[in-house]
Amino acid sequence: MGIYRAGHGSLEVICGPMFSGKTTELIRRVARAQIAKQRAQVFKPSIDSRYDSEKVVGHDSGCLKATPLDRPTEIFRHLYDNTRLVAIDEVQFFDNDIVVVVNKLACRGYRVVCAGLDLDYRGIPFGPLPGLLSIADEVSKIHAICTLCGAEASRTQRIVDSGDAVLLGEKEAYEARCRAHFEYFNEEEMLPLNEEIKADWEAHPG
Ligand code: ADP
Ligand code: MG
Repeated sequence: MGIYRAGHGSLEVICGPMFSGKTTELIRRVARAQIAKQRAQVFKPSIDSRYDSEKVVGHDSGCLKATPLDRPTEIFRHLYDNTRLVAIDEVQFFDNDIVVVVNKLACRGYRVVCAGLDLDYRGIPFGPLPGLLSIADEVSKIHAICTLCGAEASRTQRIVDSGDAVLLGEKEAYEARCRAHFEYFNEEEMLPLNEEIKADWEAHPG
């Protein structure tokens, strides 16, 4: 395990819906670090096998070799001594241990760049993203283009019928949508109102 300590570590989070360019941006930051002669290592959850089990791949087909992980703590044992940048794609699929792991790495001087979905297909914060966004030094919330109206899209619409919480898929299963065109079949389930909010909402429906 690399136990790098010198310098200032940091955590950058790139988030947004599917097709917003998160993987493209992650690959760009890794490429720039490599130009600066900084060794980068790229990781991803092993659950994300959509295109390739050992690469991160963008929708535009840019790609980078990546080490698949079953658990966030496995990162420690994969690190080389001279690694300075740790990049993690599809970070939403890890459990909350990832927050502790990347915080540890940043405190040890590593520059950590995480990319992932901030919201799931229901419009609900995705897994560890709230924790990661809170401890990040820098957050890039980026947008796709709404497939219905061309506006900035911040949501991922599932367009196939499935009750699965995680459904790996591409354009056949998901579309980028703006807030106005995002539809979820049960708004109440999306972000449930408690009694107090419900009473105020009904009193002031706008
Ligand atoms: P992400 O990792 O956020 O899913 P990628 O970096 O893999 O995104 O891919 C971004 C690319 O997806 C864009 O450069 C564009 O060519 C393509 N793309 C396909 N559909 C859309 C869309 N609705 N809005 C924006 N880009 C899209
Ligand atoms: Mg991606």
